[in-house]
Amino acid sequence: MPLAKNRAPSTDDRSNRICTMAKLQAIRGMNDILPAQSPTWQYLETCFARVVQSFGYREIRFPILEQTQLFKRSIGEVTDIVEKEMYSFDDRNGDSLTLRPEGTAGCVRAADQHGLLYNQQQRLWYQGPMFRHERPQKGRYRQFHQFGIEAFGMAGPDIDAEIIQLAAILWRELDLTDFVVLEINNIGSAEDRRHYGQALRKFLESKSEQLDDDARKRLVSNPMRVLDSKNPAVQAALSDAPLLADFVSADSQAQVRQLQRLLKAAGISYRENPRLVRGLDYYNNCVFEWTTESLGAQGAVCGGGRYDGLVAQLGGKPTLAAGFAIGVERLVLMLDSLQKVPDSSCQRIDVYVLVVGNNLAGQGLQLSQKIRDYYPQLGVICHCGGGKYNNQLKRAFNSGAGLAVILEREGDAETPLAEVKIRSLDDAGVSTTVAIGDSIEKVGEFLGISAS
Ligand code: ATP
Ligand code: MG
Repeated sequence: MPLAKNRAPSTDDRSNRICTMAKLQAIRGMNDILPAQSPTWQYLETCFARVVQSFGYREIRFPILEQTQLFKRSIGEVTDIVEKEMYSFDDRNGDSLTLRPEGTAGCVRAADQHGLLYNQQQRLWYQGPMFRHERPQKGRYRQFHQFGIEAFGMAGPDIDAEIIQLAAILWRELDLTDFVVLEINNIGSAEDRRHYGQALRKFLESKSEQLDDDARKRLVSNPMRVLDSKNPAVQAALSDAPLLADFVSADSQAQVRQLQRLLKAAGISYRENPRLVRGLDYYNNCVFEWTTESLGAQGAVCGGGRYDGLVAQLGGKPTLAAGFAIGVERLVLMLDSLQKVPDSSCQRIDVYVLVVGNNLAGQGLQLSQKIRDYYPQLGVICHCGGGKYNNQLKRAFNSGAGLAVILEREGDAETPLAEVKIRSLDDAGVSTTVAIGDSIEKVGEFLGISAS
């Protein structure tokens, strides 16, 4: 029946409307990380923080939103990221803002703005979400997370070797060394690349019919980007293209040869890949990528290199720089599929406190906290929400706890209980009743631990 005109909607009308509304879903390519997946993330985050701190890197945090111009000027106008992947919008003042697609630009902006760069050496790390409007698939998302490090004020190649070594130590700590390989390349200076770009353009113009639209566009705007193409036909056309290595200055070549010696001395094996160019314009000289075969198509887990021109390009004083970024989701996928997350990193519940009956909630909460204070290593859940003994016991078993502490009484008395029952949550179900004052000690006895 249609609603009578001017009649205010009744509660029934409103709740009907709410019931029929579609449930809202997350944005495509933006993942929820559910409690069952958190232990892998926490394990990884703890391990990364431990490794970077052991190398003397200090954490920097900077905003997720920056001016669009920051990314255009650093990453490069003619790159996949800037051309088609950025989440940009005008805010209420009409300023163009962008959700950060990577961390280096924001890190440089923040460090320079606060005077951390001029005439100094800095070792910095960051972590957090990044945003790129890509086609979502396994290992490729629209919100994803990176760990990154940036080292400022050092010419290399020693610092280049150090950041590669840091990644290698991270793989060692995560037991992933056997599943990743390191590729390195020397992409020379911006000037070297300009000369190379001209030669590559000339070469590709003769192969024009083998290129796709994207490659043809890039041929005009930024020929080196064609090397990045994932289209097999384009890759075939590139098979006897001129090599960047032949255009790189002697100085730069000497530096990367020295880097290779340092890597060998550190026992880090690598593969030279003359086609490795990286998807961002700001790199120079040494660039590298760690890849894996365990993830299918999305094989890159860490990419980085030197970027000596970037600080000046963003308006700061010329500053030597190098860094890398790791894709956290891809590492999570690897750790889970290779079963590399130790059981000990899963959150444990040891004690479940049952609260059965009226007027016992306060005593339940207090006793639970007392157990936590005496045994900080334990996880303790205090049952909330009432319910029958059997239902609470079922929840206690489901929680994975080894021990139940049971506060139970019939009737409406308001005085605190004088006794509690303690019961092991295994098939034996051994139980005992003790005075409340002895319960803490008894919990320790049952679990075979003492107060720490
Ligand atoms: P790819 O070649 O896979 O697109 P990229 O060169 O664009 O990677 P970088 O910009 O170097 O990646 O970022 C560093 C790391 O971040 C990558 O090695 C990868 O592990 C991760 N990464 C990049 N884009 C995504 C994404 N859309 N989803 C998940 N991880 C990503
Ligand atoms: Mg990419």
